[in-house]
Amino acid sequence: MSRYDDYKREVLTVSRRLSQQGYFGTKSGTAGNVSMLIEGEEAIAVTPTRMRYDVMQPEDICVVGFDLKPIEGPNKPSIETPMHVAAYRVRQDINAVIHTHQTHASAISILNRPIPPLFDEVTLAIGEVVDVVPYAPSGTQELHEGVVSKLTNRCHCYLIQNHGAMCVGRDLETTFTYVELLEKTAEVYSLALATGQPITTLPPAAVRQLVAVVMARQDREIARKNALTTAEARRA
Ligand SMILES: [Zn+2]
Repeated sequence: MSRYDDYKREVLTVSRRLSQQGYFGTKSGTAGNVSMLIEGEEAIAVTPTRMRYDVMQPEDICVVGFDLKPIEGPNKPSIETPMHVAAYRVRQDINAVIHTHQTHASAISILNRPIPPLFDEVTLAIGEVVDVVPYAPSGTQELHEGVVSKLTNRCHCYLIQNHGAMCVGRDLETTFTYVELLEKTAEVYSLALATGQPITTLPPAAVRQLVAVVMARQDREIARKNALTTAEARRA
């Protein structure tokens, strides 16, 4: 038993669901990666590299510090672990990161165009624009820096050019729904683009209202974490 067991179980459960539903690009491969921030620590629980999700067990999930040093687990963490850590460093409002190779988002990623605000319920969940992180090979510093440069837009979903997508959120279940919403939006956007007809986006006033709700939610999570840190500092 370890204090990280609950995190490991949750990372595995959501990873398996993503894999079974094809969000990692294949249902039997090892692509994609999932992580959760360990509350109150500069550490994450993250999926291991090159291991099939259907054989993965909770004890296979790695616990790694922000300094990338292993804390627990027998396996090598995902090569995209530095990208996950970089995301947690930049975005205080997030506690989960999912990197996928999902089909329709990948289609838009090869068009190299951001997805504009198209639907109320999607913008209310994921923010204004799904921006594109420029292409760089997997696991490289260049790719991680590209992700960090886009994360400041406070959205919850990103396309990675000629690669896939990344979703971030306040918990893993919510982030899973962002993966689904991104896929739905990307599919509808692809269908609409294929017609060659002009596309209508949400009116700017509506977008402003929806984004204000998203940011207020993020601010509440940042305030909750700051209150925890202050309480811990007082106890110390
Ligand atoms: Zn990938």
